[in-house]
Amino acid sequence: MKLLEYEAKTIFAAHGIPVPKGMVIRSATELAAHIPDLPPEFVLKAQVEVGGRGKAGGILMADQEDGKDRAAELFDRTIRGVTVREILVEERLAITHEYYASIAVNRSSKQALLLFTDSGGVDIETLAQERPDAIRRASIPLLLNRIPSFMVRDLLGSAPKELGAILQNLYRVFLVKDALLAEINPLVTTSTGVYAADAKLIIDDNALGRQGITQNRDLTEREREAEKHGFSYVELCGDIGVIGNGAGLTMATLDLIEYYGGHAANFLDVGGGADQERVMHAVRLVAADPTVRVIVVNLLGGITRCDDVARGIISAGISQPVIVRLAGTNEAEGQRLLAGSGYQMMGSMEQAVLAAVEAVR
Ligand code: GDP
Ligand code: MN
Repeated sequence: MKLLEYEAKTIFAAHGIPVPKGMVIRSATELAAHIPDLPPEFVLKAQVEVGGRGKAGGILMADQEDGKDRAAELFDRTIRGVTVREILVEERLAITHEYYASIAVNRSSKQALLLFTDSGGVDIETLAQERPDAIRRASIPLLLNRIPSFMVRDLLGSAPKELGAILQNLYRVFLVKDALLAEINPLVTTSTGVYAADAKLIIDDNALGRQGITQNRDLTEREREAEKHGFSYVELCGDIGVIGNGAGLTMATLDLIEYYGGHAANFLDVGGGADQERVMHAVRLVAADPTVRVIVVNLLGGITRCDDVARGIISAGISQPVIVRLAGTNEAEGQRLLAGSGYQMMGSMEQAVLAAVEAVR
């Protein structure tokens, strides 16, 4: 789950990483009430979880005079389609240099990947493409609770030594917060010291319970509903809804859709031993996605009984066509029920997928 900048900064500050003085406001009038206590010049930063926020107009410079109007202006904007509900008001820093520091989980090496460059700022992705050598890297086993000193030296190069302590503290945050990514871009120097001018922290979804986070805010409404039912559900960009049992069979269905030139709207694994009710909820959930034009149900009856699945599909009563491939326990009974209600049941997975791809073509 992605944290907002101000949430990440609160955590960074608690771990010894200096951040600019700031406060969060939820309306322009709230800012107006604080104007006398604010520094002459400050920055308004939209708290939205989108990359490239500055470029997308999510950051405005303001002063005591125009602060309220600028805040109202920012609240009225949508940043890459996201509504601005909160603004972080921060003292404006007189930046002398911008650095970049991040720590991420490298899934293939199962290590922490540390990145640092003295060309920080908004365009780190471009830098990675155009001048990859400008970004220094180091990998360390997650077993270590500190970054070895020689690595900090190599990462920093000729950058100020005081940034080393920030890297160590960032690594601490990364570990104790079960983060997938902890990033400071830009990490800045000013005449008064060094600061994390921006902050990004992504918590591993599998660790949310341990982190005391009860609600994953990044989930869509349907993903939340799916979680309630215990389905493995992921939304994708296509128009063919997919329901399968077992991750392998469901993935194979997605692959086959792509193979035949179609695009899946989702991945939904109902899990083992799905009964009528579970299947009904799964079908309704997938059908509730307005981008879904047809649904492929690909289930293998083992403990799951095909007649239960058929009853589940029928009782869902949805408007989109459902193309079914059922095989295994009570297959004949399932087939009879579906045929009686006007559903297409296919003899093989290939036929079912092909029919769905053709239906949306
Ligand atoms: P992002 O676009 O979401 O990454 O937002 P950042 O917080 O990283 O801000 C983008 C850029 O705005 C930074 O790289 C800085 O150049 C500039 N910026 C942000 N805060 C300040 C500030 O307090 N003073 C100055 N001079 N520039 C700032
Ligand atoms: Mn940034």
